[in-house]
Amino acid sequence: AKRLGSNQVRRDRGLMEKDDGLPPLLVETMLRQALQNGELEIHYQPKIHTRSMQVVGAEALCRWTHPELGHIPPQAFIPVAESSDLILPIDAYVLRKVCEQGASWMKQGYRVRISVNVSSRQFMQDGFPQLVQTCLAETGMDPQLIELEITERTAMCDVDRAVHVLQELRKIGVRIALDDFGVGYSSLNYLIQFPVHTLKIDRTFTAGIQSAVNQTPIIGAIISLAKSLNLSVVAEGVETFQQFDFLRENRCDEIQGFLFGAPVPPSSFQLSAFVAKLQPRAPQPDRVGEI
Ligand code: C2E
Ligand code: MG
Ligand code: MG
Ligand code: MG
Repeated sequence: AKRLGSNQVRRDRGLMEKDDGLPPLLVETMLRQALQNGELEIHYQPKIHTRSMQVVGAEALCRWTHPELGHIPPQAFIPVAESSDLILPIDAYVLRKVCEQGASWMKQGYRVRISVNVSSRQFMQDGFPQLVQTCLAETGMDPQLIELEITERTAMCDVDRAVHVLQELRKIGVRIALDDFGVGYSSLNYLIQFPVHTLKIDRTFTAGIQSAVNQTPIIGAIISLAKSLNLSVVAEGVETFQQFDFLRENRCDEIQGFLFGAPVPPSSFQLSAFVAKLQPRAPQPDRVGEI
């Protein structure tokens, strides 16, 4: 499933390389086309509240199906897009689609908190907070239901700027998560400066729960750290009941992984699993009649 489409097709087209990857320039050209042709789709993976076992949100993940090469995984095209400016229209497209989807779910009566991955380049781009605000306003999506996932690495590469952008985003009302937390870039000293809501434990730690090199002390430490900073903590990559039990016993707030559900197209996302039904609220001036 991790293969880049059919090897035969790629052999025919002379696309095979030593490392079995596609040449970056070709990926970039194809990706530009893909964006225009609507080959990019968003899938949604449920996030489960550990105590209640209810689905409380979803992570939006980009999916690319090339007409001939088939499914091309994000690891094969996101880094290529990030090394060019192509990641900017991709991230903007994903954000737009997510806001439209979230607003549509709101109209159906469900408050689904959706997490969106934001690349370093997009996050650091001038005008990113405005882009977010425009997307929200044009789609009618509730800012509180959007969570932007940025990696620790993004936050750490220019701390002052990151803090500034995060503050701007907070004013808009969106939530922020530090994705892939714990994999090498954390400086606890900086962490407390970042106005984020959530720490997302990288899946290498989750995978290490039952491995030879026991990772459980690290997960325990991250959960304690999150609690003492009053942050919410999510574990990604939960695949086994053993991992789930450990995370529940250690009071990890939310979990995400193949054990509970893989990323699926929005039409397959089980809305009925949600607890957070839209509550009747006092009408807000600019939203009357929309919800
Ligand atoms: P991420 O943000 O850390 O996303 C989590 C990845 O773990 C996803 O891979 C997801 O499908 C996978 N995953 C979820 N549960 C499990 C599990 O139980 N076991 C295992 N082994 N994996 C699990 P995916 O979709 O291949 O995405 C990979 C990375 O590509 C993402 O990592 C994110 O950094 C990036 N990415 C995906 N979509 C977007 C996007 O729209 N924009 C940007 N900028 N980056 C994206
Ligand atoms: Mg993520
Ligand atoms: Mg992650
Ligand atoms: Mg990860």
